[in-house]
Amino acid sequence: MTFSIHGLPVARGIAIGRAVLVASSRLDVAHYFIEPSQVVAELNRVRDGRDAVIAEIHRLQENIAHMGPKETPHELAALLEVHLMLLQDEELEGGVRHWIKDRLYNAEWALTSQLEVIARQFDEMQDEYLRERKADLEQITERILRAMRGVSSPLVQPLGRPGRKAAQPELLLDDTVDAPLILVAHDLSPADMLQFKQSVFAGFITDVGGKTSHTAIVARSLDIPAVVGARLASQLLRQDDWVIVDGDAGVVVVDPSPIILAEYGFRQRQEELARGRLARLLHTPAVTLDGQAVELLANIEMPDDAAPAVQAGAMGVGLFRSEFLFMGRHGKLPNEDEQYLAYRRAVEGMRGLPVTIRTVDIGADKPLDESSRDFAHLNPALGLRAIRWSLTEPAMFLTQLRAILRAAAHGPVQMLIPMLVHASEIRQTVSLIDHARVQLDNRGVAYGPIKIGAMIEIPAAALTLPVFLKYFDFLSIGTNDLIQYTLAIDRADESVAHLYDPLHPAVLRLIASTLAQGLAQGKPVSVCGEMAGDVSLTKLLLGLGLRSFSMHPAQILAVKQEVLRSDVGKLEVWAQQILADDEPGRRLAVGT
Ligand code: PEP
Ligand code: MG
Repeated sequence: MTFSIHGLPVARGIAIGRAVLVASSRLDVAHYFIEPSQVVAELNRVRDGRDAVIAEIHRLQENIAHMGPKETPHELAALLEVHLMLLQDEELEGGVRHWIKDRLYNAEWALTSQLEVIARQFDEMQDEYLRERKADLEQITERILRAMRGVSSPLVQPLGRPGRKAAQPELLLDDTVDAPLILVAHDLSPADMLQFKQSVFAGFITDVGGKTSHTAIVARSLDIPAVVGARLASQLLRQDDWVIVDGDAGVVVVDPSPIILAEYGFRQRQEELARGRLARLLHTPAVTLDGQAVELLANIEMPDDAAPAVQAGAMGVGLFRSEFLFMGRHGKLPNEDEQYLAYRRAVEGMRGLPVTIRTVDIGADKPLDESSRDFAHLNPALGLRAIRWSLTEPAMFLTQLRAILRAAAHGPVQMLIPMLVHASEIRQTVSLIDHARVQLDNRGVAYGPIKIGAMIEIPAAALTLPVFLKYFDFLSIGTNDLIQYTLAIDRADESVAHLYDPLHPAVLRLIASTLAQGLAQGKPVSVCGEMAGDVSLTKLLLGLGLRSFSMHPAQILAVKQEVLRSDVGKLEVWAQQILADDEPGRRLAVGT
């Protein structure tokens, strides 16, 4: 039966495919397709892993048999019996066989997919004892996965099956192997999401998350339709359900009827055509009707994003979120050389275009590791995040500063500091940068000239701009946080997402005054928050004086189209009217 789930639109477009439910704890398992010729080998890998665990349990049972009843609690023997029973369960084995043989999933993915199917059945059981067996099932799956780690796996095929096209609606219902896949999870961390950059998934759905949470930001950078904050989606959907992800409206349609499929299939094709038309603007300079040149830059997460950003039309990188190099490393942070090589790769990837590297912004919804997620503090977004963390870890920070300075020897690099608010933090940061230069001088290591900028993303920073203009060469407005901190709305919390409003007069006035003061002092100011890539705001930002927009590369051409249609002379008057309005959102809806 068709039904729909409403969430928040995050990454545009429409995806139609089969649901793949993944528990958050299983996301580190590799997901890739195998060749039909590898089916037997993959089946054997699971069987060998399972047999190894069975043998391990038998050994444990023998040891127990030699111990006295005092040393071995009765429960342990019973537990091992349960594990043995689950390991030999027909449903587990049959299901895994199905995912490998019929869907060509790799062994680990097949195993965790079937775990989700059976776990769901356990969840629905009335009997508490049986319900609790879910934990045992998870344990044995974990053990099989561990046993399989020793067994080599065929090479990962990161992009899925070659030649795969978006499914046509009329093929959907009987097309099993080639159907696109939609990842469904309760939650995905930004690092998890990044891991899916090269993955087989055509769309994403999560139960939690706000529109500008970092998970959503990474989803947008993947340019794959995504809906977050879909509340119960991971419970309402079943493994393998057909779903439509409408990333434009934030809607998930489950088990769509043929008529709905046809409608969405049509829209999907329309969107592809529209993208094709936009592609013609690739080499057109971004200049308004009245001759104002506008800089369109890319936000990137990894060094290898640089070259595709140039292909997407970026004139430079306005925000390289360097923290993604630090995440998911189990506490082992990248050393100076590793960082230097990464930044250098980004610089070289941009082929002479400028790269703005932001120093690490760890904390709040971007923990170093999932296990280090900050549950101890009530408001981590107000806690030890970004520059605050860097200043408490001077050795780590100096390492990063040296690496960035060294990368600047290979091309134009700017350094951007996140979340500054106090003059004392500014002074400390500046003196650490000087110190990093002295350290490199002492070692005789080459480094390049660098411009230093500050992110304006806390209202207090926007309200004390002169001190920022005194110390920094340029500013970049982080609207995602500026909105969060101005309106006291957790950007990652879907329950208050309706109050997260880029057009709140307070937000617009902070942006406008930052732009005006920067302009008056001849210091460049850009916007690198999500507002910069939102085409419905392009004209307003132009009217407020913005000439430098940094966004996901996938948005660049759409924003360029708006720039080409704009007459800044006319927009300035209109933008001032919007600024004076109590409800700019309503006024904007009426148009220029
Ligand atoms: C912002 O806050 O607008 C920004 C660009 O930084 P981040 O989204 O990484 O916090
Ligand atoms: Mg920010």
